[in-house]
Amino acid sequence: MELSHRVQQLTPSSTLAITAKANELKANGEPVIGLAAGEPDFNTPANIIEAAFKAVNEGKTKYTPAGGLPALKQAIQQKLEKDNLSYELNEIMVASGAKHALYNLFQSILNEGDEVIIPIPYWVSYPEQVILAGGKPVFVFTDETTNYKLTREMLDTVVTSKTKALILNSPSNPSGVIYDREELEQVANFAVSNDIIVISDEIYETLIYDGTHVSIASLNEDIKRLTIVINGVSKSHSMTGWRIGYAAGDAKLIKAMTDLASHSTSNPTTPSQWAAVEAYNGDDSFIKKMNGIFKDRLETIYPKLMEIPGIQCIKPRGAFYLYPNVSETIKFCGFNTADQFVEQLLDEALVAVVPGSSFGSPDNIRLSYATDLDSMLEAIERMKQFVEKRM
Ligand code: PLP
Repeated sequence: MELSHRVQQLTPSSTLAITAKANELKANGEPVIGLAAGEPDFNTPANIIEAAFKAVNEGKTKYTPAGGLPALKQAIQQKLEKDNLSYELNEIMVASGAKHALYNLFQSILNEGDEVIIPIPYWVSYPEQVILAGGKPVFVFTDETTNYKLTREMLDTVVTSKTKALILNSPSNPSGVIYDREELEQVANFAVSNDIIVISDEIYETLIYDGTHVSIASLNEDIKRLTIVINGVSKSHSMTGWRIGYAAGDAKLIKAMTDLASHSTSNPTTPSQWAAVEAYNGDDSFIKKMNGIFKDRLETIYPKLMEIPGIQCIKPRGAFYLYPNVSETIKFCGFNTADQFVEQLLDEALVAVVPGSSFGSPDNIRLSYATDLDSMLEAIERMKQFVEKRM
């Protein structure tokens, strides 16, 4: 069967390939430790689950408006208010996850050949979604020299008359860095002076261990006008499977994204939306608790990771990933690429991590600490031995 040119351009996710291989080994009884996860290892809080049951039992199982329940939009509006961001309800749409909000966004803003600036390392779906919408990803390489962050100078060198948007992901998956206010100001000044849309993916917003989250949209009215804030409950409330995310920004764009949803997915799942209302309006002590656990894990494992010969790793300030540069380490081990290192690490030491090539930086690997501390410590010890025995 001849597939569309559109889907033929898609790159299969190497993250999924690693996970599939790790699962196969596990099924064969091997004690694999998976550090590839992109989701918190906690249950969704009980009050949120109860809210979903309550909604279902009350018959709230029908279609809702395509752009989301008014009650949920209000809850999101209030949540944004707390971040000094004021939006009308027609400037907010609920989607089936932040990923879906991003998908609808690219479909709604891009014409053939429009360019989107994507900083490397990037979350795997950004370039794919841009390409699917007919756009062209323009990558900007960042590494430890700028703490994996964009600078104004970098942006000035890649901007063209076709630049339509840029993506900002703070806290970042995979690097765990967060942009401070002054750094955001640089990006905002660039966007405003070139009239470029800023896609601010803030999905890891509540997972910060050093510093505070600042949304670029909160800096001033000029940049707010150009920014689409993307967020959701997946990471903040450990609700990845519930599929609720949102976009907030220009009303005309939000309407277009909603119209698109109305002809593709219709509304996000109704019980999940009621669960998300509780997530935003109910007891939020879970966020602090989860944050504390992630911070403890980071403080414990980061120094252990740094003991591995050749490892270079900036200390992440948010999300739940470590993103070391292993170019020296793989040299010690006699590998040519980090991909080979990752493959062998899984086969031999039974530790699953994600190669940085998935995120555009082939010298790195990504370790997720969304797993219990004992497993993490054991995995890092295995990695250390894996390297040391080759030196
Ligand atoms: N953005 C980033 C940076 C992510 O890492 C993820 C999930 O891994 C998403 C968006 C998608 O989140 P959601 O589950 O809301 O679709």
